[in-house]
Parts: sequence; C-alpha cells; structure tokens
Amino acid sequence: MRETAMTWQGALEKLKAGNRRYIESRFKHPNKSVERREELLDGQNPFAVVLGCSDSRVPPEILFDRGQGDLFVIRVAGNVLDDIVLGSVEYAALHLDTPLVIVLGHSQCGAVAAACAGGELEGHLPFIAEALQPALVDLGDEPHAAERSNARYVAAQLESSGKRFAELATVGNLKILPAFFDLETGLVELLD
Ligand SMILES: [Zn+2]
Repeated sequence: MRETAMTWQGALEKLKAGNRRYIESRFKHPNKSVERREELLDGQNPFAVVLGCSDSRVPPEILFDRGQGDLFVIRVAGNVLDDIVLGSVEYAALHLDTPLVIVLGHSQCGAVAAACAGGELEGHLPFIAEALQPALVDLGDEPHAAERSNARYVAAQLESSGKRFAELATVGNLKILPAFFDLETGLVELLD
C-alpha cells in the first residue's frame, strides 16, 4: 500500500517538474543515497509507471530527474505492448497502487523507423514491427507522427485491456497518458 496516497495529478506534477529540471540542467538527483536504499527495504512505493523504449537515449529516471523507488519502469523497443508488458503494468497499478501510467514514445525511434520502412527484418525483430504496425496507419502530418501515434495507440490499448483498469480509472485512481520525448529539446510533451 502507498504510504501517502498520491493522486495521478500529483504524480504528473512531479514528473513535469523533474523534466523541467532535466531540460534546464538543474538536477536535484533525488532519492539516490544509501539512506534511500535502506528505506526501500520495507517495500516500494513508486508514484508513476513509465512504459518507454529501450533506446539508450531515453532513460526515464534521467528525463524526469528521479531516483530509486520513484518510477516503475518497463522498457521495450518501440514501447509496444504484449502480455508480459501488460502484466508488468498491471502489477504496479493493481498491487502497488501506482496512480499514473505514462506511455513514452520518443523522436528518432529506430524501432518505429524500421516498422515504417518495411522490408525484411532478421531474427525476432519482425515481432516488434508487427506490434507497431496498427499504430502506423492514417498518420497525420504532425512532426514525428508515427512515434506519437504509437504512444497514443499503446495507451489506448492499455486503457481497454482490463476491467480492473477501467474500474480504477472510473474512480479517478488511475490515469493512463501517452507522451512524447523530443531528443532535440529534452521536453516530454503530453499527447491528447
Ligand atoms: Zn525507440
């Protein structure tokens, strides 16, 4: 259970403030200490879930200037959803009472670019491209339309993925939001 019940709005404010610090290079580096690690021996109480891409340039703890025990992070190339990723998000939302889930797409995403380009892919890469495919139809002309569309698509998939999610969302205890990280500016923008 959460020590202090944080709302999704409060969680979002923390992420926004951390991203501002990141952009302005005013890092506070919270919760990175031996004391913090020892506090966490009693359990974890992350205030947000971030489903992001494995790309080495988009680590959520850095983009949001957060530390240990703050974010429940799932990273997979293209930030796509499968049953194991879904189970991981459910664990945080349903068992740790984490109130906010951010699906974080990003610019220069190699997985999205490969899926858009089509053609032969080796090994297990076709699984990723296949998962991305439904998000890549009817793209508008906004910048980074494919990456944004994918974040929105995955957030919508999550929202409709289970009865418990819907119940939590109805009473305001869970919010799932798509977002986009721009590598050029450092800004994490919420998508509607
Ligand atoms: Zn990526």
